Amino acid sequence: MGKIRVGFGYDVHQLKEGYDFWLGGIQVPHEKGAVGHSDADVLIHVICDALLGAANLRDIGFHFSDTDPQYKGIDSKILLKDVMLLIREQGYEVGNIDTTICLQLPKVNPHIPEMKKCLAEVMGIEEDDISIKATTTEKLGFVGRQEGVSAYCAVLIEKK
Ligand SMILES: [Zn+2]
Repeated sequence: MGKIRVGFGYDVHQLKEGYDFWLGGIQVPHEKGAVGHSDADVLIHVICDALLGAANLRDIGFHFSDTDPQYKGIDSKILLKDVMLLIREQGYEVGNIDTTICLQLPKVNPHIPEMKKCLAEVMGIEEDDISIKATTTEKLGFVGRQEGVSAYCAVLIEKK
């Protein structure tokens, strides 16, 4: 067996009316959407950060600067594809990914199968190796007040 490494990611985006809500690679119907330089897909961003961290390749902002016009409004799936290339260049393959989305509204659970399908395709891994969990924060804090969305990700990568 090759070398196994663990990575971790955390990210937050503000939620505002008048923005599309991209989450886990799909558009979730809601009156508010996440605000950011890219499409602000918080779930993809934490997966990218966890993968980069596991391979000790800095973070998403280091590779895709949020002041660089070429990334303005970019589909985060493109960033995730690039990150997969980076870690595979280092000889790593993904073992499994475990994520948690913290969001008061809308309900995330009905969208999880579609997110898993989408992310598995983008990353070139099995759906069974991607776990997506969702929680509210019991109406507490910025998530509870529906001012923002946050997410966490743990990932295991293995050198082939
Ligand atoms: Zn982000």
